[in-house]
Amino acid sequence: MFKINDNFCKLPESYLFSEVARRINAFKEANPDTDVIRMGIGDVTIPICPAAIEAMHKAVDDESRTETFHGYGPEQGYPFLREAIAENDYKARGIEISADEIFVSDGAKSDTGNIGDLLSADNIVALTDPVYPVYADTNVMAGRAGRLSENGSWDRLVYLPVSAENGFEPQIPQEHVDVIYLCYPNNPTGTALTRLQLKKWVDYARKEGALILFDSAYEAFIHTPDVPHSIFEITGAKEVAIEFRSFSKTAGFTGVRCGYTVVPKDLKAKDAEGREVSLNRLWNRRQCTKFNGASYVSQRGAAAIYTPEGRRQASEAVEYYMENARALRQGLSEAGFEVYGGVDAPYVWLKTPGAMTSWEFFDWLLETANVAGTPGSGFGPAGEGYFRLTAFNTHENTRRAIERIKAVGQKS
Ligand SMILES: *Cc1c(COP(=O)(O)O)cnc(C)c1O
Repeated sequence: MFKINDNFCKLPESYLFSEVARRINAFKEANPDTDVIRMGIGDVTIPICPAAIEAMHKAVDDESRTETFHGYGPEQGYPFLREAIAENDYKARGIEISADEIFVSDGAKSDTGNIGDLLSADNIVALTDPVYPVYADTNVMAGRAGRLSENGSWDRLVYLPVSAENGFEPQIPQEHVDVIYLCYPNNPTGTALTRLQLKKWVDYARKEGALILFDSAYEAFIHTPDVPHSIFEITGAKEVAIEFRSFSKTAGFTGVRCGYTVVPKDLKAKDAEGREVSLNRLWNRRQCTKFNGASYVSQRGAAAIYTPEGRRQASEAVEYYMENARALRQGLSEAGFEVYGGVDAPYVWLKTPGAMTSWEFFDWLLETANVAGTPGSGFGPAGEGYFRLTAFNTHENTRRAIERIKAVGQKS
């Protein structure tokens, strides 16, 4: 009989969002007249801006005529989009990234998951805790995570806990690690790293010969001047880092699908014989073999985000969400909660009061304030005792949720 990749069997069922939905539904069934405000949404809610919509309509029409029809495009993405990215996201910020270092894709989830194809199974992988689940789970699938311990952590992964105690700054590991996933601004904590904090990681990676996989899906939400928009703002990062970006949260493309990955040509590794290998070449080979390019229509839509109107319209949506984040931060602090994040990211991370676990707080908030969020423990062991609220909502709902939370006060 054929054999399967047994690593898949090691993965426990991911029950976070299904359990959240189950508890909300049970509550609504028992209380049919209550309206529950959902503040756990990890998806954008504002429609795509007119500039991108127009560009996509036009792209659809292109597909209807022989002269403008586009079939398979370049696996790496169309030059019009790669050049717009290089120009606007990098050169305009003083970073030299050329179009052939940019690989357009259907999103950052695929790319952060697929990048492991380039890496040996015996690398030691480090990730922050709590964390975006894709990083851990894809390493489990590839056989790099070892075994699941009783406390829910993998014994070959190196966890970098972040909490209020260390100011949500992951500490440089004492041991050697080969690969480090960093997501900044962060999902789920909503916190960011300053230039100086990120530089420590670039320096560590250079010293240890490690690779940094930098997810900056929330780059557009940065407001603090000292927070870098790209890891390539840090000197020497091009030799040690790959950066992932997405139009999902920046421009509402969660349904349209478009993102990109930057693999600098300066990023080199050694093969088993000690020969130098370019990761840019490897990723190009991987994409050309397993991926046939993001859709022409999506790429036309994404390129429109770089026009003056597109930029202005997309940033209006980001500002709308960030107003919610500010209101949440302020309202929850006034209600007596310890709140983090929400300044450079659309997530607010609050400390659950007293000794309440994340799930106890979930139930309490749902039952007393009829507000639903996401328990921090669902993102990793160090998320226990925290709770995520998102800014992806209307001003109206955000305001109502804050009023309700203030009214029930802080459970002590
Ligand atoms: C939403 C999100 C992404 C974006 O994923 P897409 O596949 O581009 O939609 C990437 N990383 C993190 C941490 C996210 O929260």
